[in-house]
Amino acid sequence: MIDACAALGYGGITFWRRELSGREVEIGDRVRAAGMQVVGLCRTPFLTGPLALPSDQQIMDDFYLAIDQAAGLGTNVLTIVTGGPEPGTKGVLDSQKILADRVARAAPYAADRGVNLALEPLNPATAGNRTCLMTAADALNVCDAVGAENVGVAIDVYHVWWDTTLADTLARRAQGRILGYHLCDWLADTTDVLLDRGMMGDGVADLRALRDAVESAGYYGLCEVEIFSAENWWKHDPDEVLDTIVSRFRACC
Ligand code: ZN
Repeated sequence: MIDACAALGYGGITFWRRELSGREVEIGDRVRAAGMQVVGLCRTPFLTGPLALPSDQQIMDDFYLAIDQAAGLGTNVLTIVTGGPEPGTKGVLDSQKILADRVARAAPYAADRGVNLALEPLNPATAGNRTCLMTAADALNVCDAVGAENVGVAIDVYHVWWDTTLADTLARRAQGRILGYHLCDWLADTTDVLLDRGMMGDGVADLRALRDAVESAGYYGLCEVEIFSAENWWKHDPDEVLDTIVSRFRACC
């Protein structure tokens, strides 16, 4: 994958923890040797909710391990997918407090290793168990509660395309705090909110307006194409997918 991306002139790659198998230093070195950067690492363990590890100690240990792996890769961004409402609570506000506490405890450890932590809000359809942040405003509120310089937000088209207040929120509150921008599209007839993401241009998101919103808030890092597509793109030839990404990025983003 590294060689294929480099051959097409990609600027970088974001990895998932499950792909590393303890080889993060070797993988990071190989990406840089191919002329690219490691844009980020996805993702922390769930920090709240029913899918999180059972104890605070286990959650934090795995959080620290994820930070170590990001540092090993040589990237400065670790994305946080928060996890959903904590068992025994209703709504998301109690869980946001738990989240802020855990992120605040990990932030100095991450800062010592040159790693920034990016809180990613997720589409409300996933908030039953995967997130307690549903909007950029939610994520910025937790950033404010944490109050650490190395904690910001990641903006993913799939999760926020519907939010008509997004551009205003980012302009007013996110200057210098956007750490990642994730691209795909929202299909009009999506069948699975986790694994049926669309290729850019195939859906209804206003991709140019969204990019303008993040860049107006001072984000000039790479655009990360993130397309979970179990029944479509994951079944295509990988070289064809990489070619399509390049042409759609130029035409639609
Ligand atoms: Zn994302």
